[in-house]
Amino acid sequence: MRDKLLALIVGLLLSTAVFAVPPTPEEFLGFSVGADRKLASYTQVLSYLRQVAAASDRVSIDELGESTLGNEMVAVVLTSAANQLNLDRYREIASQLANADQLASEEAARLIEEGKAIALVTCTIHSTEVGSTQMAMEFVHDFATTVDSEKLAWMEEMIVLLMPSINPDGQVMVVDWYNEHLGTKFEGGQMPWLYHHYVGHDNNRDFYMLTQKESRVVNQVLYHRWFPQVFLDEHQMGSTGPRMFVPPQTDPLAPEIHSLIFRQADLIGTNMSYRLEESGRTGVGHNMIFDSYWPGGTRNTAWWKNVTGLLTEVASVRIATPIQIDSGELRGGSKGLPEYTRRANFPSPWPGGDWTLRDIVDYELIATWALVETVSENRSEFLRNFYRMADEATQAGVTDSPSAWIVSPDQHDPVAAGRMVELLLEHGIRIYTSDRPLQLGMTTYPAGTHIIPAAQPYRAFLLTMLRPQRYPEVVPYQGGPIYPPYDVTSWSLPIAFGVEVVETDRALPETLRQIDAPVWPQVALTEGSGGYLIPHSSDSAFTALNRLLRDGKEIYWLLTPPEEGQVGDIWLPFDALSSSEATALAEELHLPIRSLDSAPTGDRMRVRSSRVGLFKPWVASMDEGWTRWVLEQYDFPYINLNNQDLKEGSFRGAADVLLFPDVSSSIITKGEPDSPWAKQFWAPLPPEYSGGIAPEGEEEIKKWVEAGGTVVAIDSSANYFIELFGLPVSNVLDGLDESQFSAPGTMVRLLVDVDHPVGFGMRPEEVAYFADSAAFQTRVPDPRFGRQVIARYPDDDTDIPVSGYIEGAELLERRAAVVEYRVGEGRIVLIGFRPQHRAQTVRTFKLLFNALYLPGLEMVTSD
Ligand SMILES: [Zn+2]
Repeated sequence: MRDKLLALIVGLLLSTAVFAVPPTPEEFLGFSVGADRKLASYTQVLSYLRQVAAASDRVSIDELGESTLGNEMVAVVLTSAANQLNLDRYREIASQLANADQLASEEAARLIEEGKAIALVTCTIHSTEVGSTQMAMEFVHDFATTVDSEKLAWMEEMIVLLMPSINPDGQVMVVDWYNEHLGTKFEGGQMPWLYHHYVGHDNNRDFYMLTQKESRVVNQVLYHRWFPQVFLDEHQMGSTGPRMFVPPQTDPLAPEIHSLIFRQADLIGTNMSYRLEESGRTGVGHNMIFDSYWPGGTRNTAWWKNVTGLLTEVASVRIATPIQIDSGELRGGSKGLPEYTRRANFPSPWPGGDWTLRDIVDYELIATWALVETVSENRSEFLRNFYRMADEATQAGVTDSPSAWIVSPDQHDPVAAGRMVELLLEHGIRIYTSDRPLQLGMTTYPAGTHIIPAAQPYRAFLLTMLRPQRYPEVVPYQGGPIYPPYDVTSWSLPIAFGVEVVETDRALPETLRQIDAPVWPQVALTEGSGGYLIPHSSDSAFTALNRLLRDGKEIYWLLTPPEEGQVGDIWLPFDALSSSEATALAEELHLPIRSLDSAPTGDRMRVRSSRVGLFKPWVASMDEGWTRWVLEQYDFPYINLNNQDLKEGSFRGAADVLLFPDVSSSIITKGEPDSPWAKQFWAPLPPEYSGGIAPEGEEEIKKWVEAGGTVVAIDSSANYFIELFGLPVSNVLDGLDESQFSAPGTMVRLLVDVDHPVGFGMRPEEVAYFADSAAFQTRVPDPRFGRQVIARYPDDDTDIPVSGYIEGAELLERRAAVVEYRVGEGRIVLIGFRPQHRAQTVRTFKLLFNALYLPGLEMVTSD
């Protein structure tokens, strides 16, 4: 203690001697944090934080990289001046404790004594939830300048990593839009585009698939760079419920998560509630709404990796515009808070009244400091438990089943298998390979097999990500209904990627070699003169196809494949591609391309490029954004089409296929959402963005299809096109309530016609991601319509669920999932589910992609 005191005094002396006094946020901004209708821009926030860092020896900045649109991402590192001098050492200690399987317990005990607790705090992943980025300035100022002896003692014990925004692009957009509309009737209203360039609000659904730059930056901080033990993600929610939600979260609990995670969340969350109550803040609730089950969200994924992930949600205002709430407008209605009334998890209901941005900032400041208090006062426990959970996970991997997961290179799509392995490595999973054939029991796996041992610190993560999900049916009271899931109920990676993963209980040999990159399929191009063959089943075939089409290459899909090929395999004549071009593609895309000795004979289809026109409504659609992202990953040529483009018919000549993402009829026709959920957040957009495509746009689309155009419509959009063209088909799930049918994010078996071009490269039995999607009852069409069912659900409901929660599976029996209609000279492809859902459904990307080439396919019959 005396040493600490000494360090403190030295630290204080140093700070007064060397450093200038940091300005207050108000001095810097010219207004106070949380003032009505005032928001600091992300640039202002960053430069303020940099000024404080320059002026304070308790504050430094860790540069973490760039966001999607090139904004800087940083963590402000907050700890005592003495600790600031040893950050590398504390990171090293945290890293060693995280890797418990490589650390003896005596050494661990010594490191726990020496180490500092580390907590990551992230702000505004959801950019309209503006409070926490503003709060960050005040928190950092307070941290840098406080003379409070308790706070000074806390900062000796721990390091706070504060990320002022984990979606800075959206922060910039939202603040600009807000300022632009101040004083108009659109003040505080929504933007006509997504606040993350690709994925909008779904940026908090990406933390196991890690598709977006921002997710990968946070993932790096957590599992490769700092190894924090605690992770708080600060959000805002609707305006008319509790003022703030703090941990613990509610049922159901995921079965694989260590129970200490929940207990530590209780410990921190309870202190948050207590400190808020004590300071006179009412309306704080816990154990409600947000469950402890699904791993997609920022801090959720961390639960499976021994990190205590925490969520706070504060009631929103209209961005920075205050609101007034009448007591009669307050309501419950959620899991854990069916009515807005006093109860054990909500002891002091807020009575209603004025609610401002400053209130949000205050609640967040108190909660964040409460976290610092609890974590620092329990520093050694948090470090010890962090080590202990990792150690127990490793031990369980030795004693329990399985001992390992095996990913053989013999896969339907070996590229997808490599991508899955690459993702697991990014998650900090330890993976090995065998340079020789690997004998495990009766089975021999080829060289290049990936082996994922269960005996490692993130075993719980492997258990949830590599196995199918079964939703825990928790009831609030005996005989009561089960708690509905908060988000999706299935995320199993092998199923999503379409990769065979085998569990083994065998002991692993000592000869395995640890890898830091996947072992990709080996490609050895020979000197064949029969051209080049690319398996249609390989994930990267589409990127190659799009690049080759862009270069004007002659390309065919084979209807009579050569030996070891599949119907639809992609063939380029020998003179269409040089062997160096082929080798370059193979290397860059891990493309399993091979050369043939003789050119294939038989029927084939010439493929020409078709340009995609992707509908982008002003009621911003996350599915549109995800679709755009997926198209870009595979180098599809596309343009976005808005209402005006469709009304004016300006897509003629610019697009060969119209792609409608999952958007409701009401948004397409009127530019307004119709679901009750979406309506509560809805306010009219400025006139230049209001309205839909009807009726002029509808006329244009009809004429275009009749004359030969192709439309691909996904999920809800399919319903719209059924109606627009009077197609002889209906969605059997229309109008059903949740007690009759529910599949809120469920993997279901799909039977595919792999001889149809849309099914090329797929397996006859696939898996579709069903998220409150559509199922089609077709009718025998009259001569106006040609109809072909391309994919359907199985005949027997017991064959339908593959992973996740489903109620009413029998309603999907024999129903069509993908149908092609010929209308006039054109065609409409209805895809009842989202084959590109959140970019998490790699195995069904092919189905969507194939449909996009339809306009450019031309039959070539063999002579
Ligand atoms: Zn949020």
